[in-house]
Amino acid sequence: MQDTEHNHEIFEEKLKLCREVLGQDSVSALMTTTCYSLGRFKEIVDEYVRLGFNSIFLRSLNPYGFAKRDKQKIAYPLADFIENYKEALDYIIDINLKGTVFVEGYAELLLSRVLTPFATGFVDLQSPAGVGISGVIYDYNGNVYVSDEARMMATANNHYFKMGNVNENTYQEMFNGEFLHHVISNACTECLPICAECAYQPFCGADPVRNFSEQGDMVGHRPTNESCKKNKAVLQHLLELIKKNDPKINNVFWSWITKQSIQ
Ligand code: SF4
Repeated sequence: MQDTEHNHEIFEEKLKLCREVLGQDSVSALMTTTCYSLGRFKEIVDEYVRLGFNSIFLRSLNPYGFAKRDKQKIAYPLADFIENYKEALDYIIDINLKGTVFVEGYAELLLSRVLTPFATGFVDLQSPAGVGISGVIYDYNGNVYVSDEARMMATANNHYFKMGNVNENTYQEMFNGEFLHHVISNACTECLPICAECAYQPFCGADPVRNFSEQGDMVGHRPTNESCKKNKAVLQHLLELIKKNDPKINNVFWSWITKQSIQ
């Protein structure tokens, strides 16, 4: 416990330093839910507010890197995350209504998709997926991957999503090659099984790298896909809140989308 407190003190010192060098609003803290976070989302949100952050992105565990390796110790049923997420979202809406501007990032992205015609630039929630076409990762050794998650898979010796290497391949080979065409042709929700007929399809996105990591192929199997279950549950919850047509909640949502204070 003492170590944890000490680590947090060090974190706060380094956060202060980063803000001094980069600017107050240039530092964000990426939250990842482990089983130890469940039941404590309100405390986590309070801590973000106390530290002067104006947003949080409540993320469930992704099947890559350390999270995949340590799954036995830190994983939990997705339903537990969804329950905690809904509670935390209510709490965050309340914080905003009491006068503190504080955004939940995942809801903000989905609300932009549902309530506006504009793209968000969030590559996991678009069709075709943004892998390799909206963003790529150049690793220190010249390897080029379709996404950071693909790079993380490579650290576990799975190089399936490597597009090439800057020392060995031309731009044309990597960005107009057969491999990237193959990935993108498997990354459109309009033609993926189940997604093609799903009511949430216009707001959702394909994630071939995650499907591959979680289910062994780029198309994936929707009925057992954790990412699909999460998107469905969160979208359904947001649509229920929109359907209430509560002016207070609507104001909070629009303040997040337009990045302006509550009217
Ligand atoms: S919610 Fe699931 S089935 Fe529907 S579009 Fe998203 S991933 Fe596909």
